Amino acid sequence: MEERLQKILANAGVASRRKCEELIAAGKVTVNGEVVKALGVKADPAKDAIAVNGKKIKSESKLYLLFNKPKGVITSMHDEKGRTVVTDFLKGVKERVYPVGRLDYDTEGLLLLTNDGELANLLTHPRHHVAKTYLATVERVPHGDALDKIQKGIKLEDGMTAPAEIEYHDVDPEGKQATISITIREGRNRQVRRMFEAIHHPVIRLKRISFGGLTLDNLQRGKYRKLSDAEVQSLR
Ligand code: URA
Repeated sequence: MEERLQKILANAGVASRRKCEELIAAGKVTVNGEVVKALGVKADPAKDAIAVNGKKIKSESKLYLLFNKPKGVITSMHDEKGRTVVTDFLKGVKERVYPVGRLDYDTEGLLLLTNDGELANLLTHPRHHVAKTYLATVERVPHGDALDKIQKGIKLEDGMTAPAEIEYHDVDPEGKQATISITIREGRNRQVRRMFEAIHHPVIRLKRISFGGLTLDNLQRGKYRKLSDAEVQSLR
């Protein structure tokens, strides 16, 4: 994927982005053997040969994975107690990818992993308001009034939640449980579980089906796939 030269150099650990701009302006940087002095020129680190002072830079290619996390898996790279972690499902992935945000141990569904720290920070920053949709199966069938409360914003111990979108997805005819689709744009700890607890309908099962417009589709549980360039662009 094409990026500005100073960003590629900074990501490859050459120097800060500012310093890399100085190196470019000073004519120290070449792309495919040609000196590039203008700022703002773009290159593709996967395809172009980029060198500083004649030395080729080592840029780890960026990898973006969409993983369907099973329940009973920790969103972490390692676990001291030896429990299953997400990276146990990524055998064959050489790059050191990290989860973008987290899903609880008992939550399943869509989890992004990447070695692009900048995008990961952007997506998890509260100001970015990435939409995340979950299917929450809850005890009994909540009334519309109760769901309205969640929709408008509900008081939790760490403050009011922002408005959410809510829809009935599936209702058990015997009234024992209901599956509700909920879209939130925040990422507080155990937020969806706490929102339903606040209306006295504890969550039995929680699955994230969408993140920033990306969806699980028919990706099997425990499997991952790479995002396309267009999907990565759509997240920015
Ligand atoms: N909300 C939760 O309660 N748990 C998750 O894993 C994600 C969102």
